[in-house]
Amino acid sequence: MRSDLYIDGQWVKPINGGSSKVINPATEEVIHTISAATAEDVDIAVDAARRAFDKGVWPKLSGADRATYLRDIANGIRARVKEIARLEVIDNGKPFPEAEWDITDAAGCFDFYAGLAEQLDNDPEEPIALADERFISKAVREPIGVAAAIIPWNYPLLMAAWKVAPALAAGCTVVLKPAEVTSLTALELAAIADEAGLPPGVLNVVTGSGSVAGQAIIDHKGVDKLAFTGSGPIGSKIMAAAARDIKRVSLELGGKSPFVVFDDSDIEQAVEWIMFGIFWNQGQVCSATSRVLVQEGIYDALLARLIKETNRIRIGNGLDDGVLLGPLVSRRQHEQVVDAIEAAKAAGATVACGGARPDGFDKGYYLQPTVLTDVPLDSAAWVEEIFGPVVCVRPFKTEEEAIELANDSRFGLAAAVMSKDGVRAERVARAFRAGIVWINCSQPTFTEAPWGGYKESGIGRELGRWGFDNYLETKQITKLVSEAPWGWYIK
Ligand code: NAD
Repeated sequence: MRSDLYIDGQWVKPINGGSSKVINPATEEVIHTISAATAEDVDIAVDAARRAFDKGVWPKLSGADRATYLRDIANGIRARVKEIARLEVIDNGKPFPEAEWDITDAAGCFDFYAGLAEQLDNDPEEPIALADERFISKAVREPIGVAAAIIPWNYPLLMAAWKVAPALAAGCTVVLKPAEVTSLTALELAAIADEAGLPPGVLNVVTGSGSVAGQAIIDHKGVDKLAFTGSGPIGSKIMAAAARDIKRVSLELGGKSPFVVFDDSDIEQAVEWIMFGIFWNQGQVCSATSRVLVQEGIYDALLARLIKETNRIRIGNGLDDGVLLGPLVSRRQHEQVVDAIEAAKAAGATVACGGARPDGFDKGYYLQPTVLTDVPLDSAAWVEEIFGPVVCVRPFKTEEEAIELANDSRFGLAAAVMSKDGVRAERVARAFRAGIVWINCSQPTFTEAPWGGYKESGIGRELGRWGFDNYLETKQITKLVSEAPWGWYIK
């Protein structure tokens, strides 16, 4: 486990000597200490990224050359999947097989953007048809500059990959700040990039708190682009900071996503996707389908099955075989989710199952997977993101009612619908006001497809070619090809 900052191709100690403890959420033991950067370290990191962009070779390389580095990083991650997945488990708490998915996906993300970097080399060939034939015009895409990537703790390496891979592919240089509670794998990413021979300053990893290191990054004049995934309130701060000097900004924020299940659905299938949609990663998922709307014809049968299966989920240390639900990431997160359940009860909700610390787990931030019913529509449990293994289930009568309930939210990240009637499912999918919609499933995520939210769930899209555009400026180059005078004063 590494503990230093990675700046300008070097492992360095923070100038003011700050540190922060790494706690294993399964045991509450301190397993390591990492550096906590301050504004002075951020200055050095941004200067390094600035130099690597303004004077270095990185943005001038062909896309094909940059792709070679990205593929080396992908292979470097792939060569160490199990080891990095283990680090993710002891840092974040998630079950090992889920961590393995994340790390494998992170490698795939670097491969994918290597492909887009190669395609960038053909960009200038695109002519623009002009009505005025005295000119020819073309559009070229160029890297934005220094990109700051600020990420949350729920998918530590994967969230880093979603930003670092397209940024590097585009020719940007990067300052990455992982979440303070889960920084271990971001430091491994730096080590892998270093082994891949990435030029100094192209990727810098600065660990530290949001209020100190994060704030210094978003306020820094040397940063051209802020790419943020995290909570809404911090998203607002990022946007305000970006507004001061017109930094480019993309935001991936929270959600309270609905899952509408019609009564022609297979109950077994519905229950499995409902559970996956809220209990994987302990429900600490921005796109978690945490509001489940079930048509009344199957409501009772589905709820009974859901409770039975939820009670059977194996809870435990993410490193143990067969565990489906690990601890929440931190004491703070555990407290917040428990408080949300208590507030739901006080507002009149019924705890249909779960709702407490599981028996036999005195240590670790464990919480039973929880199903809430009778949740008032104006209560926080129905309206606010809980970010834990807590699902609200409620019956509905008609398609119209389901769509209205689903869209009655200030968020719009994701939504899901299940029905054997393909035309209806498609119709409902179109009616959702959300950036990501699943039909007959919930959560599968693909590097090739756009990811991001409507409304207060964010601005911009990550992943796919959309995620690449986040790190590119478009330049128009227009050439006069006529010999005739312009006619302003020479007639
Ligand atoms: P958070 O907003 O508290 O922190 C996210 C990151 O921002 C961390 O690295 C933190 O250190 C940093 N930060 C905090 N204050 C800062 C400041 N003043 N200036 C700059 N940086 C600062 O979020 P979290 O608790 O880590 O993550 C949970 C939230 O993230 C949830 O709301 C969840 O929905 C959201 N999320 C969204 C997506 C998505 O793709 N839309 C994905 C994962 C998580």
